[in-house]
Amino acid sequence: MRAVLSTGSNMEDSRAHLAAVVRAFEPHLIRASSIYATAPWGGVDQPDFLNQALLIDVPLTPHELLNTCQQLEREANRVRDVRWGPRTLDVDIVHIDGYTADDPELTVPHPRAHQREFVLRPWLEIDPDAQLNGQPVREILHNLEPQGVRQLPAEASDPADPTQSEARP
Ligand code: ATP
Ligand code: MG
Ligand code: MG
Repeated sequence: MRAVLSTGSNMEDSRAHLAAVVRAFEPHLIRASSIYATAPWGGVDQPDFLNQALLIDVPLTPHELLNTCQQLEREANRVRDVRWGPRTLDVDIVHIDGYTADDPELTVPHPRAHQREFVLRPWLEIDPDAQLNGQPVREILHNLEPQGVRQLPAEASDPADPTQSEARP
C-alpha cells in the first residue's frame, strides 16, 4: 500500500523527532522530502514547526498504518493537550493510493491537507504528479495564499555535524 505521510514537530529536537520516523519506515521508504520550517497553524502562539513528507510503500492496512503512526507519536512522548498546540511529533496520513475513508478515527485523504502549504509543498517535492481529490497538488498550491513555509537547505541539516561541513565544496 502506497501512502503519503506528513510529519511535524516543534518541541525538543525537532529534527531528531522527524528523523526517527524516517528511520522507522526506512525499509518501506520510497522518498523523503526536504525539511520545511513553518509558522504555526491554528492560532496557538508557539515556536515554528519543522515539517516533512514521506512517500512509503508498506505491507499494512490503513488502520495498521494509523496505529504505527500513533505508536511513533507515543515513542516521542507526545502529550495531547491544546488542539493544534506544540508537540514533539505529529504523524498524519495525508493520502493512500486507491483508498478513501470518512471516519473521525481515520479520514483519508487528510481533511485539512488541501489548506496547508506545509503539507502540500513537501508532498509535491517528492511526487510532482500528486493529485488530491482529483486536483493536481501543484494547482492547489498555486491557488493558496502563501503561508510562510521555507524549504531548509539540506547542507544546513546539522550545522554542528563536522562530517557535513567537510563534505561541502
Ligand atoms: P490535524 O488533523 O488538524 O492535523 P492533529 O494532527 O494535531 O490535527 P491529532 O491530535 O494528531 O490531530 O489527531 C487527532 C485524531 O485524528 C487522531 O486520534 C486520529 O485518529 C484522527 N485522524 C483522522 N484521520 C487521520 C489521518 N488521516 N491521519 C492521522 N490521524 C487521523
Ligand atoms: Mg496534524
Ligand atoms: Mg495528527
